[in-house]
Amino acid sequence: MKIAFFSTKSYDRESFDRFLSKSGHEITYFDSKLDKHTVHLAEGHGAVCSFVNDQIDAGILKKLDQLGIKLIALRCAGYNQVDLKAAEELGIPIVRVPAYSPEAVAEHAFALILTLSRKTHKAYNRVRENNFSLEGLTGINIHGKTVGVIGTGAIGRAFCRIAKGFGCKILAFDIFENDEMKDLGVEYLPLKEVLAKSHIISLHCPLTPETKHLINTETITYMQNGIALINTSRGALIETKSVIKALKKGKIGFLGIDVYEQEEHIFFKNLSEEIIQDEQIARLMTFPNVLITGHQAFLTKEALEQIASVTLSNITSFEKGESLTNEIKAS
Ligand code: NAD
Repeated sequence: MKIAFFSTKSYDRESFDRFLSKSGHEITYFDSKLDKHTVHLAEGHGAVCSFVNDQIDAGILKKLDQLGIKLIALRCAGYNQVDLKAAEELGIPIVRVPAYSPEAVAEHAFALILTLSRKTHKAYNRVRENNFSLEGLTGINIHGKTVGVIGTGAIGRAFCRIAKGFGCKILAFDIFENDEMKDLGVEYLPLKEVLAKSHIISLHCPLTPETKHLINTETITYMQNGIALINTSRGALIETKSVIKALKKGKIGFLGIDVYEQEEHIFFKNLSEEIIQDEQIARLMTFPNVLITGHQAFLTKEALEQIASVTLSNITSFEKGESLTNEIKAS
């Protein structure tokens, strides 16, 4: 099948090219993001392959349908960027890579926790300047802390297994409880209680109308003073302006984010020569207790290989008329 591949980065090309010849598919790589200005590039292809910040709304879907696109293959797990109802009405199936490496994201969440709790980002810079002073580098132990996990799907579960290894007490909130987690010792509680009883909160639920701004001015009041908040899921789970207020007051003690509410204007680009216009991310970057990474939690060698092989096999299954195990439908 001819695939129009949007938002291409060098690491995508490397991993997909490795599996391409075996798959029998053909890829045209486009650096551009999929939007109303670039959608025409899909002409002459049968499928579109897109990533997290390619907006696949009703207008784009209609245009893709007119261009003869038969399938959209997301090379990611989250699908909040897709209008599933519009896709269903047009008869365009949407497939994704549901769990390419939950450990990659869970380990990154822990990397954020460990960096913030032991200030290794500061120590790295200090030592490079021959400053071996320990002043201001006092950290906190993770062992014995209570960790609240919101969403115990594939990534949340991998996160809980790591937290268990660190000797944490684990509380969780999910709309579905998981038996494997209960056997591990995870205690499911209502959201408010998880927020109130945890020292560290890590978000692993998808972005949906119900979870948008799950962390807001009101829910922050339930939390303990000095809470460590980690978000590797989707930016809009957090209402950024409320979190900035809570950081200023010291209510939030650490913030580690790999995703940001307005990230589509900023992430995945080199803006080092530009003036950042987004006031909220600029403010966040001024806090010494905030660590931001640019949506890289998925970015491991193992995850990229899995993404490429599952995406190409999703497309092969569609071409062969097989049932699409990784299809997502409007509920
Ligand atoms: P998953 O579908 O396996 O798990 C999601 C869990 O969230 C499920 O257990 C579900 O029941 C739960 N959930 C749904 N609605 C909820 C609600 N209202 N409240 C509480 N829990 C709710 O997904 P996953 O593979 O674990 O991925 C989780 C999210 O991580 C994805 O949706 C995606 O947004 C994000 N993600 C980020 C990166 C990254 O690089 N930063 C990479 C992959 C995925």
